[in-house]
Amino acid sequence: LLTTLLIITILFQDGYSQRIRNEIDIPDILGYKTLKCDFHMHTVFSDGKVWPTVRVEEAWSDGLDAISITEHIEYQAHKEDIAVKHNRSYDIAKPRAIGLNLSLIKGAEITREMPPGHFNALFLNDAALLDKPEWQDAIKAAHTQGAFIFWNHPGWSGQQPDGKARWYDEHTELENSGMLHGMEVVNASEYYPEAHQWCLDKNLTMLGNSDVHGPIDMNYDSHKGKPRPVTLVFAKEKTPAAIKEALFSRRTAVYYNNTLIGKREYLEPIFYNSIQILNSTVVLKGKNREYVQISNDSEMDFELTIAGDILELDVPSTFTIHGGKTVIMAIRSKEEIYQGEKSIQLPFRVKNMKITPEEELSVVLELNVTQNN
Ligand SMILES: [Zn+2]
Ligand SMILES: [Zn+2]
Repeated sequence: LLTTLLIITILFQDGYSQRIRNEIDIPDILGYKTLKCDFHMHTVFSDGKVWPTVRVEEAWSDGLDAISITEHIEYQAHKEDIAVKHNRSYDIAKPRAIGLNLSLIKGAEITREMPPGHFNALFLNDAALLDKPEWQDAIKAAHTQGAFIFWNHPGWSGQQPDGKARWYDEHTELENSGMLHGMEVVNASEYYPEAHQWCLDKNLTMLGNSDVHGPIDMNYDSHKGKPRPVTLVFAKEKTPAAIKEALFSRRTAVYYNNTLIGKREYLEPIFYNSIQILNSTVVLKGKNREYVQISNDSEMDFELTIAGDILELDVPSTFTIHGGKTVIMAIRSKEEIYQGEKSIQLPFRVKNMKITPEEELSVVLELNVTQNN
């Protein structure tokens, strides 16, 4: 009987304990590693609902490289049950992060009324030093520690009922004193176009984070195609120091909801490193249709729309290059206006790659087409 129980126990544990990491497939670019990061989340040590080690295991499962657990300094929802210790969630999570090779960055959320609102400070030595009556002193205490400081959810309806982000004098004060380095362009499921534009105008780092409070699977499910928003950090290596350097150098993009937000200089290589035209040399006979195969190694579905006149060829005006797949683009000679070989540039816009709040990334697919009549 004992043996049977033991076997049942082992089977049970096996069935329930196997964990699977779901990698986020976005290519490395420009000699940098594309690290997938979430720099905003809570545990029971502020107003979250989970234990710190759970955040690490969730992040590993979601394919992340780095996280920061950012407890509210000023809002301790469970203080009747759990002692107020601003560094405690980091200390508890750290051994598990080391075990799973996940970079854990010590952070905290300075939580004030608007203006100036909420700010995350990353790369802290001691989060408890941010516990100050005046918001200016809290941010200064982070800055003194060399922290990377960003403005959280600028258009959050809890502080801006119309969902529109507003820039106040307090933000100018922070910007001018070098204590504002970035902004959440995406928080949870919200996108803030104003913040996106400010990042471009003021050269601030763009971030997209989950701000998760409950168990991650109650809000997202990376295994079912509903991943949390992440900040892509283009770092020299996967270390906290390299992530810090990249954040201060503004080398990030935001990936959420099958959409990429970021500067052209980063989105362009992500597109071209992901796709490959498998047969870029095509021979067309008369008005016959031919197929061009395009593969996509990334997990993103690139949604293309034609962006200009193509004199020589009929091509689809919209099509999707599905993530992890190979698709066919059917082409046909439009007019028999040339004979022989010609290089043809097909201009498209990628609908789900935003380089400004209004502008989509322009890309070119190049074909070498030989026309035989
Ligand atoms: Zn907040
Ligand atoms: Zn938060």
